[in-house]
Amino acid sequence: MIMKRLIDYLKKMEQKGHVVVTLALVLIFSAPSTAQFRGGNFQPPPLDPLVEQIVKEANENSHLEQLAHELLDIVGPRLVGTPQMDHAHNWAVETFKKWGISAENQQFGEWRGWERGISHIDLIHPRVKTLYGTQLAWSPTTGGKPVEGEVVVLPNVQDSTEFQAWLPSVKGKFVMVSMLQPTGRPEYNWREFATEESLNNIRAARAAASREWADRIRRTGVTTASLPGVLEEAGAAGVVMSYWSNEFGSNKIFGASTTKVPTIDISLEDYGVIFRLAESGQKPRLRVETESKELGKVPIFNTIAEIKGTEFPDEYVILSAHLDSWEGGSGATDNGTGTVTMMEVARILKKLYPNPKRTILIGLWGSEEQGLNGSRAFVIDNPDVIAKTQAVFNQDNGTGRVSQINGSGFLHAYDFMGRWLSAAPIGVQRHIETTFPGMPTGGSSDHASFIAAGIPAFMLSALSWGYGTITWHTNLDTYDKLVFDDLKNNVILIATLAYQASEEPELVNREQRLLPAGQDGRPGVWPQIRQPRRLGGF
Ligand SMILES: [Zn+2]
Repeated sequence: MIMKRLIDYLKKMEQKGHVVVTLALVLIFSAPSTAQFRGGNFQPPPLDPLVEQIVKEANENSHLEQLAHELLDIVGPRLVGTPQMDHAHNWAVETFKKWGISAENQQFGEWRGWERGISHIDLIHPRVKTLYGTQLAWSPTTGGKPVEGEVVVLPNVQDSTEFQAWLPSVKGKFVMVSMLQPTGRPEYNWREFATEESLNNIRAARAAASREWADRIRRTGVTTASLPGVLEEAGAAGVVMSYWSNEFGSNKIFGASTTKVPTIDISLEDYGVIFRLAESGQKPRLRVETESKELGKVPIFNTIAEIKGTEFPDEYVILSAHLDSWEGGSGATDNGTGTVTMMEVARILKKLYPNPKRTILIGLWGSEEQGLNGSRAFVIDNPDVIAKTQAVFNQDNGTGRVSQINGSGFLHAYDFMGRWLSAAPIGVQRHIETTFPGMPTGGSSDHASFIAAGIPAFMLSALSWGYGTITWHTNLDTYDKLVFDDLKNNVILIATLAYQASEEPELVNREQRLLPAGQDGRPGVWPQIRQPRRLGGF
């Protein structure tokens, strides 16, 4: 569908007998590259004058770098219930207002308030090394001073009886609960340089190590989830883990489950050092200091901004991105990029298209990471908006240019999304593969909250740029990973889609496809609206 406008144009030209057209068609469909649009006499079809202005503004007067700096470097990561999250909401409102766009923070619940302080982790015996690691979110403190202790590895017990007999020995010690990785090199590095034999060897070693570690935990009679609590009950000084993200330097940083002693994550490299020292009988010792503040019950918000519609002010086009993040890095690609993209789109539309037919609403959601809580609350709390929402465009998977759009199971998405997409510049369209009617999703990101309400909502899926391993919920999710050229591409795309959806003569047809039967043979069921968590973290 995305090539439709170009193809129509080329067909028209062909009827007029332009020889160059056939050549252009051959070039386009045989070798997709930038060169194809520069070669020969081929000119892409003219753009809508407003889209042309959008392209110019997005490329020549981009605010993306400044917005990203303010959000990611100054505000930083945005864990639900933290002062940084409030800071981000207030910053977004102020920024919208600076552009003349009305905006406010709408409370939808309460959460455990917590503020991260320092994490200092040193190896002090048998040699001194400052370790690369950090406390997990919601980790308890070390009580205002450093704590020192031997670090031991979870033992390889025969059964839960042996584990219970060992347990009292953890008193005053740090306990390592993650496996030793057989290699710190990601798979792609092995594929590039290893002999076939050693590639197979390392794959086998990894699989075996994972299996053996899972067995080791299972034999304790305690689950991975409850192990930290059992260790702190037994008097451990802290829980030490390493959640490697299969990429050089990258660990995933989630939340602690201990309530009295710190849970820390240490980089693969440093974790390996202390693991091997402990296993070889060197009795390594750590000094750990973590600080943080418990802030009690605090309100949590969505930031909602809008550019009022003129012809159908009570009908909506929604630009959607979650503002919250995990906090091992600064939440740059999850979802700083979606946030600054939607804000930049809003800025450009306000400047170039200040009187849209329909109201353009920008939803920057809170607490997506704990289960789409902000967008689910918005859907339930705003039935009038939901009843008259034309479309929702959501972004939430990194910094890449949009490369896939799925029709979310709406039968006519091929028609309206196809037309709206075909208004975007060819250079933006050509990266995108569409799947119509596609399938509705029940989770994954905030568009799901709207799909459940029967609203045509679409995930504008980006090229990964190593999202899953390099940045997703990791310590490396930082400003330097942003690809601003791709973000500008997305700003142009989304501004065009919002403009087209706003101009559409009527609300689009939202008929749902029949869903294929599941494995049990029963007919598929459209995802249902789900309640958000309005009180969390306790
Ligand atoms: Zn996300």
